[in-house]
Amino acid sequence: MLSQAEREELAGLLYPQVRKTPEEYETIYPPRNLPEGACVTRLGPSPTGFIHLGNLYGALADERIAHQSGGVFILRVEDTDNKREISGAVELIISSLSYFGLHFDEGATEEGNQGEFGPYRQRQRVDLYQSLACRLIRMGRAYPCFCTEEELTAIRNEQKANKQNPGYYGPWARHRDMPIEEIRAKVAAGTPFALRFRSMGDATRTFTITDGIRGSLTMPENDQDFVLLKADGIPTYHFAHVTDDHFMRITHIIRGEEWLSTLPYHWELFQALGYTPPVFCHTTVLMKMEGETKRKLSKRKDPELGLDYYRRLGYFPQAVRTYLLTVLNSNYEEWQMANPGLPYTAFPFTTEKMGSSGALFDLNKLQNVSKDTFASLPAEEIYSFLLSWSESEAPDLYPILAEDAAYGIAILSIGRGGEKPRKDLIYGKQIMEFIRFFFDPLFSQDDPYPEQIGPDLATRILRDYWDAFSFSDDNTLWFEKVRKLSEKHGFAARPKDYQKNPELYKGHVGDVSSLLRVALTGRRNSPDLWEVQQVMGAERVGRRINAAIAQLEASL
Ligand code: GLU
Repeated sequence: MLSQAEREELAGLLYPQVRKTPEEYETIYPPRNLPEGACVTRLGPSPTGFIHLGNLYGALADERIAHQSGGVFILRVEDTDNKREISGAVELIISSLSYFGLHFDEGATEEGNQGEFGPYRQRQRVDLYQSLACRLIRMGRAYPCFCTEEELTAIRNEQKANKQNPGYYGPWARHRDMPIEEIRAKVAAGTPFALRFRSMGDATRTFTITDGIRGSLTMPENDQDFVLLKADGIPTYHFAHVTDDHFMRITHIIRGEEWLSTLPYHWELFQALGYTPPVFCHTTVLMKMEGETKRKLSKRKDPELGLDYYRRLGYFPQAVRTYLLTVLNSNYEEWQMANPGLPYTAFPFTTEKMGSSGALFDLNKLQNVSKDTFASLPAEEIYSFLLSWSESEAPDLYPILAEDAAYGIAILSIGRGGEKPRKDLIYGKQIMEFIRFFFDPLFSQDDPYPEQIGPDLATRILRDYWDAFSFSDDNTLWFEKVRKLSEKHGFAARPKDYQKNPELYKGHVGDVSSLLRVALTGRRNSPDLWEVQQVMGAERVGRRINAAIAQLEASL
């Protein structure tokens, strides 16, 4: 073990560029002046350019915990692994989350930083980490390790062969007690080194903490001399996490369960530095069903893992948020049913109600939530959502939709009054496909005419239909006319008459309706045809019928 004087020397030798002491940083980043009980949370994504459902899942919990307590929600960019930030990555994170209604109070911005506890990109905080590293060196709790990759691999192989725990610890921690003369010589020779933590833990002992989600957790103590600063002076996740969460005065850490295995590192480091650890909340992984088995969502196999998937397809942000809240908090759905008019922000979110074993993400359920959400919204709101979605994600549809707002709203109003509103609308792209036939530039005949009505007969029926058509007919009168039209052309006015004596008819009123439906909408299935025509307007109905006649005649 080095003497105090040697440790002082060592700190200066290894990190001569450090400008400030940890005590100075304590005054630069003082405890926050927040009301009692206010929580401070952070999202710590890596700027890889891929933002996924897990990020949103965590961010939603972070945001709720911070904002429902009158606290602060921070964006901290964890760029210690990447050489460079992918350009636009921060903008992508911010805009993806803001699509879902989540906004940061503080943190990294595209241009820089916003807030008093920054900078908020870890690579810009190197002086802070190194200053703290010097403190650990002075305390005898950190030392340089000059082992090469090959030497570390040899250690691992030997441990494997002896069936011992892998890692740099105890007797395997070769450079733990290197004499200062040797260190001086290596540093003078420019030998690369990593700074390691000197663990004082004992893996045969345990410690217990209360996880915000999982409750009481008892784990073996850490005994690994893990790396604090890599050879390039950049911290590992472990060191950056402890440093930043202390100096940003974070109260709750919501992070994936993959960090549970190294929680003993973090715990020992917090203890060594004398900092009070925040409340750890380890979330569970998002899973999906594949046949009968549950598996983790995968970036390679599941496009629905990426957040851009929802934006591209035009999922309604509120629906995704609602669905994720039901996955996050087991009592959300029940609360929502009991409080139908209240916004999600009124829900008392608790980490205790978050699941700790494999949350199931089910796209079908999300679609059901989306249908319910759209069914409960005014048509005007759906229209303006479609408009803004199409502007960025479907620019060819945007001008068609934007041309006539009243028409768009009328289309989206179909079947929405009454007790049981229709639930046809799921997401932007699907909605546009569903209502496409209303717009002349998007209309096409997708389904064939009923096969028992040949082109010649179809032409005659359509002519008679148009002759008798009156836009002011109500639904009942309109349908009476369709029945008469059917009879005139040898179709039963009622399906049951046809069923009794099929030999007497060419078909029944349903077949004639199908013919009209295909002529008007291009499809065999559509919402109520009378309503569709009312929305289309007399002129468009006339154009469609006459175009169908012309096309049929051409085929004769
Ligand atoms: N950068 C870490 C990750 O993406 C953040 C984990 C944390 O929130 O502490 O997993």
